[in-house]
Amino acid sequence: MHLVTRAQWGAKPPKSPLKHIASTKGVKVHYEGAPVPADLAKPEKHSQCAGRVRSIQASHLANTKEKYSDIAYSYVVCPHGHVFEGRGLHKRQGANGNQQLNLNHYSVVAMVGDSGLTKPTNDQLHGIRDAIELLRDKGGAGAEIKGHRDGFATKCPGDPLQEWVKKGAPRPGTPGIEPPPPPPPGAKVSLSHVITAARTDPGAAQGHTTFPADVKRVEAALVAEGLLDPKFGDDGSFGSRTVDAYAAYQRRQGFTGANADGIPGKSTLTTLGSQHGFTVAA
Ligand SMILES: [Zn+2]
Ligand SMILES: [Zn+2]
Repeated sequence: MHLVTRAQWGAKPPKSPLKHIASTKGVKVHYEGAPVPADLAKPEKHSQCAGRVRSIQASHLANTKEKYSDIAYSYVVCPHGHVFEGRGLHKRQGANGNQQLNLNHYSVVAMVGDSGLTKPTNDQLHGIRDAIELLRDKGGAGAEIKGHRDGFATKCPGDPLQEWVKKGAPRPGTPGIEPPPPPPPGAKVSLSHVITAARTDPGAAQGHTTFPADVKRVEAALVAEGLLDPKFGDDGSFGSRTVDAYAAYQRRQGFTGANADGIPGKSTLTTLGSQHGFTVAA
């Protein structure tokens, strides 16, 4: 995780000592609830993020109604996924709405607004998750992940973050949450070509190729599976090493004996393609 300590972002010291807490039930997620520039998510704008955290702290220290002794949040996460230390571990935070709510959960705020940047970036979701895991590992946070609006009348943390929290705050790309990207169009391997190559190349002269374009895709997939030495991974020749590697892949798929002879079949080639971005043609 990209942790930015208080010293690194230039925090002011708290006005009064922060109350120590041993543990919480979990974490509540917040948004800024104010405009956040839509272009803050651009990579070059990260140079502004520490300044935004200093502004949040300054506004909290100036808030005479709430009488905050420090930035209210436990952690602040910018659109680039960096995690800025707010009150930090084992400190009672002040953002959840009342004394009891503040004791029950830590707070993590995303630099997401009610206008402009209204949806968290994927890097930011990873950053929030990083902060939650840090609070669990080192701060005694329990398993709960909730939105500020859970149990308190507020729009915070906005609909996109609240929906993410309701799903269990998964890291982007978690299987079952987002479908894997489809193979790029045109990435096709011909089953008959690779069968012919696997029957021809091992008995031919060293480095003989038959249908090298198809074979290279299969070799790249076998290298990615850790079954073929990268040295032989892109020669386009379905030689004996490639046959051995393919046989190992067949065994991995549960085939044995003559069904794991290293000559590609439709089932294993289709599975290999679905894992490594090609589709199988006849
Ligand atoms: Zn909030
Ligand atoms: Zn940033």
